[in-house]
Amino acid sequence: MANWQQILRKSITTVDQLIELFGEENIDREAVQEAVDRFNLRITPAVLAQIKGDGVTFWQQYVPSPDENEVLDGIVDSLAEDDDSPVPNITHRYPDRVLFLISPVCASYCRFCTRRRKVGDPEKIPLNQFDSAFRYLQEHTEVRDVILSGGDPFMLSDRRLEFFLKKLRAIPHIEVIRIHTRIPLHLPERITADLCKVIARYHPVFVNIHFNHPAELTPATEKALAKLANAGCPLGSQTVLLKGVNDDPETMKELMQKLLKNRVRPYYLYMADPVAGAEHFRTGVEKGLEIMKALRGWTSGLAVPHFCIDAPGGGGKIPLLPNYVEEISDDEVVLRNYAGELYRYPLPKELVLASLL
Ligand SMILES: *Cc1c(COP(=O)(O)O)cnc(C)c1O
Repeated sequence: MANWQQILRKSITTVDQLIELFGEENIDREAVQEAVDRFNLRITPAVLAQIKGDGVTFWQQYVPSPDENEVLDGIVDSLAEDDDSPVPNITHRYPDRVLFLISPVCASYCRFCTRRRKVGDPEKIPLNQFDSAFRYLQEHTEVRDVILSGGDPFMLSDRRLEFFLKKLRAIPHIEVIRIHTRIPLHLPERITADLCKVIARYHPVFVNIHFNHPAELTPATEKALAKLANAGCPLGSQTVLLKGVNDDPETMKELMQKLLKNRVRPYYLYMADPVAGAEHFRTGVEKGLEIMKALRGWTSGLAVPHFCIDAPGGGGKIPLLPNYVEEISDDEVVLRNYAGELYRYPLPKELVLASLL
């Protein structure tokens, strides 16, 4: 059986290959080449099988589009991650946790990538500058949670990944390590027994997987998730609301329920970031609120993610909720339940008295 590196080498990486597969009538050579010049192309065999099978949702996510060349008001570094970067590869925005980019590459490139300005470019996620990052983490004793991302951390070899996990575990104030990945769907073969053994030596290691559509949970992907869960990793997921891919409540509900069945706890649902080159994926915010309303109460609370906007300019993640509070008066709160019915919650009498004094 081929190992994961060999399978990765069978990926599609050129416009010629796309034309060969999908025909000149579906791939505008010049425009698609321009899109690829701006942001890498790679489609693994697992993703290609999905494009052929499930069609539009995967095509949109992975096949470069001429729309990527249209920049209206998209921003290159929309989350201002580089402004909050004290040393290369680290973004420190919140009080007690940091984002640590340890791999410049992904198995497949999502066309809506927020970090498309640097992902795929080893010069922008430099692999020879980790000393300053480790020193920063050692010195900043307030950091108790480190999020490994990139690129995709599971693109590293087992040995290289273990190097990072070991270094981080040697820092006493780091309590939690998270790995952010899309490998379980891009390259499920990468989730080997050996990889799971490496991870299990450094717990607690949370693994957050980016899933956008229920069809992404193929049998191979589900098997990879089970291996990670059995290795003791709490699994979470992040989803981006994408026009034409998952912007409807039924698709989202199916996705969240399917994740839960695979021991993956839905964590965040994001509005698409206003990234230059990915603006054609954006939806209105009402769509996200409509989806949240269709989840909360109608299915397991465990299947309901937090809906957030990652504020442009570096404000961090800001939660959005449908409005469930009709009115707050001195003696009661008027609430609307998931089905739209009104309920009154009486406030404690002492509070009412106190406010009279
Ligand atoms: C999302 C993010 C985190 C983690 O935020 P949580 O809400 O704890 O998941 C940390 N740092 C940066 C820069 C982030 O974008």
